Amino acid sequence: MRDGIVAIFQQSFRELRPGSSLPPLTVEFFAFANVNNTIRLREGKLHVRLSDLLEGAPEPVLRALAHILLAKMYRKPIERSHATRYRRYVHSHEIRHKAHLVRQVRGRKRIASAQGRVYDLEAIFEDLNLRFFGGMQARPQMSWSQGRARNLLGHYDPAHNAIVVSRIFDHPAVPRYAVEYIVYHEMLHLRHPVKLKGSRRCVHSAEFRAEEKVFPQLEAAQRFLRRL
Ligand SMILES: [Zn+2]
Repeated sequence: MRDGIVAIFQQSFRELRPGSSLPPLTVEFFAFANVNNTIRLREGKLHVRLSDLLEGAPEPVLRALAHILLAKMYRKPIERSHATRYRRYVHSHEIRHKAHLVRQVRGRKRIASAQGRVYDLEAIFEDLNLRFFGGMQARPQMSWSQGRARNLLGHYDPAHNAIVVSRIFDHPAVPRYAVEYIVYHEMLHLRHPVKLKGSRRCVHSAEFRAEEKVFPQLEAAQRFLRRL
């Protein structure tokens, strides 16, 4: 199979660039979360990664894909017949179904982490974004915490560009405005980056506090959170 796919790329390369010689080439199938294929030229070598969902695809589909990737790499026009053949295959019922199942498994952690049992943090972020920031704030990853820590309501994790909210708030007894307030507070941290003083991770300037007061249920939310 692997030798076969390399041969397909070699032939496709000869068709695209007759007379020039193909750089050393590796092709591997890779477990992307989606049907995704990449080609890179690094240190004179071509590295191709194909979605493992295409492993076992019919040869004409693999030929089409080799043509598309090499044409992109060398800025040649993509032949329409190849583009159509590849697109048809990827959109076919069978592979879409397979991709969907794979996404459920590989993407579960990420999907499950923004969509809680009760509250969807991405929806809350976008709602706040529209209400208070004109929709202009870029959304980081939104995630319920893995553990159920009480000491941290929420925090911004710069390493993953993620707002993480403690999972204890993903509960029907928690009013939506309390979750909104926690997310809003972290959004303000994104807008008011602080120079860290010592190890304090939560520093609130006067402007920060003033902007926080714009949140309509600020007092109710803080009261609720203090009771916990
Ligand atoms: Zn804070």
